[in-house]
Amino acid sequence: MVESKDKLYIGGEWVAPSSGSTIEVISPVTEEVIATVPEAAEADVDKAVDAAKAALAGPYPQLSPEERADTLTKLSQAIGARAMDFAQIITTEMGSPSSFSLMGQVFSATMILDGFANVTRTFPFEEHRKGALGPVLVRKETVGVSAGIVPWNVPLFEIACKLGPALAAGSPIILKPSPETPLDAYLLAELLDEIGLPKGMVSILPAGREVGEYLVRHPGIDKVTFTGSTAAGRKVGAICGEQLKRVTLELGGKSAAIILEDADLATSLPTLMPSALMNNGQACVAQTRILAPRSRYSEVVDALADAVKGTSVGDPADPSTIVGPLVAERQRERVLGYIDKGNAEGAKLAVGGGRPKDLDKGWFVEPTLFVDVDNSMTIAQEEIFGPVLAVIPYGDEAEAVAIANDSDFGLSGSVWTTDVERGIGVARQVRTGTYGVNSMATIDIHQPFGGFKASGVGREFGPEGLSAFLETKTIILPGDYQPPS
Ligand code: NAD
Repeated sequence: MVESKDKLYIGGEWVAPSSGSTIEVISPVTEEVIATVPEAAEADVDKAVDAAKAALAGPYPQLSPEERADTLTKLSQAIGARAMDFAQIITTEMGSPSSFSLMGQVFSATMILDGFANVTRTFPFEEHRKGALGPVLVRKETVGVSAGIVPWNVPLFEIACKLGPALAAGSPIILKPSPETPLDAYLLAELLDEIGLPKGMVSILPAGREVGEYLVRHPGIDKVTFTGSTAAGRKVGAICGEQLKRVTLELGGKSAAIILEDADLATSLPTLMPSALMNNGQACVAQTRILAPRSRYSEVVDALADAVKGTSVGDPADPSTIVGPLVAERQRERVLGYIDKGNAEGAKLAVGGGRPKDLDKGWFVEPTLFVDVDNSMTIAQEEIFGPVLAVIPYGDEAEAVAIANDSDFGLSGSVWTTDVERGIGVARQVRTGTYGVNSMATIDIHQPFGGFKASGVGREFGPEGLSAFLETKTIILPGDYQPPS
């Protein structure tokens, strides 16, 4: 299933790359090279932008919203029909456990496309309104050519986050997958051909950050949609600010799960744990700070320690595996570095803390639980992006909210309580873009999603996500104008 490639998908054509440079895709389980793909160069970006500009003037952006929605539905169905292949490729290239790959990576991507198809069918692309002086027509038009830059942790899901609204809005898009995970995007390109998407609407250019930055700066790009680290997001945002390009930034997180003293631990923790450790801890919305009331502290810590100890670690292709390897050696070293910092700064290591003894190959880190963590410690402030949880004690609800908000990030969060109204009250006070009350879901892929503070700018999904790919035009009409009925 996983095979090397020698062409790039540019403007709907399979073309020879402009340079001989290649990307090696390395298995995080065996540490061996499993495939190579061409690495796109600046000349490939130029070609893709030319193709996108031609497509912008072509038939696709002029299709009716209904026809564009049908394209999204067709693509979703085509991905659904190859779901097992996509899941296997993603597990192989980045180590996501197979069950998560199928649901969290592939079917969630089809759901994103379905969501955008529905929004497109009902979105008010043209509205007649009464203006200050008379009738006006307010139109939403495509933003132009867009660039979508995605990370490796949920590669197909992230592509769907960019491709869905672009195709809904009639915006030709150049996608740049991460060098760690280019393979799923190749299968996607085959499906774009299969559904007959007009040429030029999509190009897929696997490359690293330099070519990514060249794409962002390219004068032919009107809109950038970026998902990745906050550090890279700041750079991308600065370039777009300078060039006055439209930009959406979906960045890092350090979300807090607040366990209120009335929570039912027996039902809450089995629901919370999957959102804390999902995708081997490599999830922007992971609930990695767990705030426990002092009145029930040891009870919460014991239950969490049991749950983390009981988490199976191993080959992500094995359906019983809950936590697989990290994506790359550098990611494992980064996570182990944070564990060292936690120990050095005085957090108490309750579970894990190193590499699993029985796995001498692969970039595995034991699921790790630190307790007695102070929110000022590095492991509570910085995004670790690995299976490392920090339990932070608090006194009352106001202190819990203050700790949750004492973060540069504001992406997600959750509260656990037997009183849902009280939970909603907490949700109103925490400064994050998405919040769950007794919910395993840390994101709703049909509703606006994005960050407060350093977690990003703008929103994906829902009408807000589609609007991010549209410009608004007001057409002022003569006073006696009557819209055609
Ligand atoms: P990263 O920032 O290193 O890279 C992300 C993508 O951006 C890659 O394709 C990379 O090649 C490219 N890139 C990096 N620097 C660039 C630059 N200066 N110009 C243009 N492109 C550039 O992040 P990563 O390690 O791949 O992903 C992990 C990060 O992504 C975490 O911080 C995680 O929280 C975040 N993330 C956020 C969301 C969200 O929706 N908020 C979702 C998934 C992941």
